[in-house]
Amino acid sequence: MLDKRKFYINGEWVAPLVANDLEVLNPATEKPIAVISMGTAADIDRAVAAAKTAFAGYSQTSVEERLALLEKLLSIYKRRYDEMAQTITMELGAPITMSTEQQADVGVGHLQGFIDALKRLHMRQVLPNGDVLLREPVGVCGLITPWNWPINQIALKVVPALATGSTCVLKPSEFTPLNALLYAEMVHEAGFPAGTFNLVNGDGIECGAALSKHRDVDMMSFTGSTRAGIAVSKDAAETVKRVTLELGGKSPNIVFEDADLEDRVAGSVLECFNNSGQSCDAPTRLLVQRSVYNQAVAIATRVGKEATVGDPTQEGSHIGPLVSHIQFGRVQALIEAGVAEGAKLLVGGPGKPEGFETGYFVKPTIFADVNNTMKIARDEVFGPVLAIMPFDTEEEAIAIANDTNYGLAAYVQTSDPKRAERVASRLRAGMVHINGGPHRYGSPFGGYKQSGNGREGGMFGLEDFLEVKTVHRPEVAA
Ligand code: NDP
Repeated sequence: MLDKRKFYINGEWVAPLVANDLEVLNPATEKPIAVISMGTAADIDRAVAAAKTAFAGYSQTSVEERLALLEKLLSIYKRRYDEMAQTITMELGAPITMSTEQQADVGVGHLQGFIDALKRLHMRQVLPNGDVLLREPVGVCGLITPWNWPINQIALKVVPALATGSTCVLKPSEFTPLNALLYAEMVHEAGFPAGTFNLVNGDGIECGAALSKHRDVDMMSFTGSTRAGIAVSKDAAETVKRVTLELGGKSPNIVFEDADLEDRVAGSVLECFNNSGQSCDAPTRLLVQRSVYNQAVAIATRVGKEATVGDPTQEGSHIGPLVSHIQFGRVQALIEAGVAEGAKLLVGGPGKPEGFETGYFVKPTIFADVNNTMKIARDEVFGPVLAIMPFDTEEEAIAIANDTNYGLAAYVQTSDPKRAERVASRLRAGMVHINGGPHRYGSPFGGYKQSGNGREGGMFGLEDFLEVKTVHRPEVAA
């Protein structure tokens, strides 16, 4: 078993102030793979103090100096890429093919996206009225990340903090701490000054809240549940911190009758099941125009039945387990709610798939004839569970799509480009994917309504970590 009990504070690996061990489990085997320490508010104090001290010098570094550090980090990440993929497979249960092609890849893509954006960013600008506008690092940043796309969230927060000249304290999810510790090793090797990046493991209630409330933390960037996002916002309010939130979703996927049905329905089912359904932007509500509803249901049933679960260490396109027994319990409860509310079960259902009694595996599940008031249409399931429902008109599809507390992503399938843009413009969501168009690195990621605020990635992601200062001078600036 790996011994990973140290935290990374002020450029060094240090023991926690109070010993408090936690075993990290492999979700496919339920066996411990590592032991970490759960920190306390005192460990957070130590890390924040290091970040505050480091900010004085690091905030004065030039963009060129920071670009050189980020390029170094990129080359180290690429060298240790396979280790990152294997680590995520081990602690999250993402199948190795998916870890390699998607989970680890985001660490490269986002870093490159931020490097490109930083090269285009103007830290000093003369406004049309002759005043000078300075962009300055926001300060000490508290970063709290979840387990579902662990290095994705870490890269989307740590990189813009360091790129803009801020310093940070990261508290990753204790369910997937190992990729974060590996990232800390990379940041260390890249030569970022001591105290610019710090990592403390621990839980949300103690360490997360200590960060959010801390007087010397200037900004909180959080990804996770809406519940915890609200808690972070409340805790941060006392000290009037900037707070950016990337929260849950219940993303609608509208299939019009003129869509390439076979391709788009099959693709939509697989996208919903990707990462065992543990993605905030997963297309979990499939809205199908009634004239092609039965055909779409037949395609979804076939594709759903073909989806398999399997050992994450094996190459392939199968689905892995959920991350934890807590998550397993949540997903089971929602599948049971779907059955109890009278949705038509097409594929899967409650219980574990045959032959997978060990591990947090669930059956890929599809419900049809769902209506938008059911629990499975309103709550974020965060498992491989798809809800299909019919609609008649474009107007009705937009109304159902927008009838949710969330507003992260939305999906539109149609062969009419004018309709695609028209519908996209009316959906209250931060990202709209048309006919399977993928999210590209460097574009803003984030949501409307209770899916959060702020945007991650590329130029918008840098802006979130910057303060804006106006310099007024008697004469007009050159
Ligand atoms: P949480 O929101 O509880 O966890 C995410 C992160 O927030 C973890 O690091 C967690 O630490 C921390 N955290 C929890 N409570 C607080 C708090 N009061 N103050 C500061 N930090 C806190 O998500 P769960 O893991 O419990 O998952 C629950 C549901 O949330 C999922 O089923 C899914 O619907 C949604 N979710 C959405 C994600 C997204 O990408 N938007 C990511 C993960 C979950 P700790 O683990 O110690 O509690």
